[in-house]
Amino acid sequence: NICNEDLVQTKDTLRAPVICVLGHVDAGKTTILDNLRRTHVQDNEAGGITQQMGATNVPLDTIVERTKMSRKLISRQGDFMIPGLLIIDTPGHAIFQNLRSRGSSLCDLAILVVDIMNGLQAQTIESIRLLIDRQTPFIIALNKIDLLYGWKSNKEKDVESVLEEQDSFTQDHFEKRYDEIIVQFAKQGLNVALYYKNPNPNEYYSMVPTSARSGDGMGSLIAMIIETSQTNLAKHLSYTNELQATVMEVKAIHGLGTTIDVALINGCLSVGDKIIVGGQEGPIVTQIRRLLIPESNQELRDTNQYENKDKVMGTCVVKIAAKDLEKSLAGLPLFIARTHDEIDYFKNEIELILTTVLNSFKLKESGVYIQASTLGSLEAFLELLKIQKIPCSGVNIGPVHRKDVLRASTQLENDIKWATILAFDVKIERDAQDYAKTMGVKIFQNDEIYNLCSMFVAYQNQLIKENQDKYRHLAVFPCKLKILPQNIFNSRDPIICGVRIEDGFIKIGTPICVPSKDGIDLGRIASIEMNHKSLDIARKGSEVCIKIVSTTNDTAKMYGRHFDKDDILMSKISRESIDIIKAYFRDELQESDWRLIIELKKIFNIV
Ligand code: GDP
Repeated sequence: NICNEDLVQTKDTLRAPVICVLGHVDAGKTTILDNLRRTHVQDNEAGGITQQMGATNVPLDTIVERTKMSRKLISRQGDFMIPGLLIIDTPGHAIFQNLRSRGSSLCDLAILVVDIMNGLQAQTIESIRLLIDRQTPFIIALNKIDLLYGWKSNKEKDVESVLEEQDSFTQDHFEKRYDEIIVQFAKQGLNVALYYKNPNPNEYYSMVPTSARSGDGMGSLIAMIIETSQTNLAKHLSYTNELQATVMEVKAIHGLGTTIDVALINGCLSVGDKIIVGGQEGPIVTQIRRLLIPESNQELRDTNQYENKDKVMGTCVVKIAAKDLEKSLAGLPLFIARTHDEIDYFKNEIELILTTVLNSFKLKESGVYIQASTLGSLEAFLELLKIQKIPCSGVNIGPVHRKDVLRASTQLENDIKWATILAFDVKIERDAQDYAKTMGVKIFQNDEIYNLCSMFVAYQNQLIKENQDKYRHLAVFPCKLKILPQNIFNSRDPIICGVRIEDGFIKIGTPICVPSKDGIDLGRIASIEMNHKSLDIARKGSEVCIKIVSTTNDTAKMYGRHFDKDDILMSKISRESIDIIKAYFRDELQESDWRLIIELKKIFNIV
């Protein structure tokens, strides 16, 4: 096993690299991972030992076996310097981002999966940005080659010769797809080349054609991982005694209580060590009671058996059983302390890292406040809010305290709806509850992020409805009316006449004025009729009869004296009425209505 404590570390030995898989949805990330880890026990091949610990240790003998057809790719033949691979079980960028260790990524080498049929897609490009940003080297798997016309599979050979042996029309199809993908990468500013044609691995990213489904090219891919690790990454992977470990998962296990699965990158962990990990309610200090690694006996592979160790050394994934781990947080480092001073120091360090992580989320000036139980769920929640276009102004981990309510309450200045806490899978402290009531902060609590989003959307709609009722009398909808002179039924208070709606729309209550006659007020529309039927609203193009009732104490204006058939009537808008429409009645206006508002703004000189 790669975490064998007896392994002698010399200058020549490196630690196992941590491998992540990224790419667009459906490109084949999960299938590639399954293949790399060989979780399919029925394949009857030597493989990694998978027990869902967040990562899988793939031992050296598996690598030796699986790269035998591609040995020429490894420059130090028969002399492997790395003891194995540590493969992160969950694909995608959420997990990649979660694997932080003091700012940098824990992932040493990534596999970027590209579907050869689809080329670069939205999430491929996002993944590239992320990898470049974190300076993480990567190898490209050009996956699903078995879908090329007439592909003949052979997973026993290096994929270079498998390609050579294809019929010419299959090769043509490959070339066509490949050329297109090279251009797509170039548009992202990256040089890429097939791994066996790569003129300079420092300048060109290597591409390995693969089929995760048939297994073609997977040996070549693993060989490229080994070669890159032993050459370009050798310095980075040299083993050090300084502890570098990250909590991957927190899990309750029958008979063991709450345990943490830890990716141990560098250094050693021993039973009895005093450890410090991040917790929902602050750092947790505890002592390692048991160190467990998956049982190496293959028959037991799927039965959740663990082997007890006194000591383990990086790189590997190990399960730690200890007291007080119930509230520990995944995604943060683990430290060992030997003295009291060290305990305080590392507690501070964890707090600092958590704050840095929380501050790294891109938050908005106005928006809801999010509280979740783990870093991972917080990230997933933020992702969902982004999709739903709900902005977020603040985040925290753990139970909702008074200070969270205080932070959320600052949003009352922006908009009452943002003074809302969405609490996912966390408790709300009693005093926080009371304080929220006093301050007017709304708290929604649920253990489903989707439910929380719908609860917020419903609340938002309810607020809009309330405001519409409250402000409807102040909302002025835009209209431009032409008087129909043959239909004047009453010329003064109330004015009753026929009009054609030239633009916009009228509603009962719309105030009407005559801009061409110094903007004189005529009053408000009291009723609308079309073919003797009363209407509440009439839109552009219709001809209707309206009754305008004067609303001031001044002498009522008269058709034929104060204005006549050549004057265009318009709704009397103001800065206030525009703001109210923008805030609460947006949905009732069409695009042409907004254009009319802009026109009216100019006529009425509204800034
Ligand atoms: P992910 O979303 O990137 O994790 O993609 P999956 O691994 O779940 O694969 C998506 C679909 O593509 C599944 O139906 C897979 O069986 C299929 N798939 C994955 N790799 C290959 C491949 O190499 N060839 C073919 N033909 N299908 C594949």
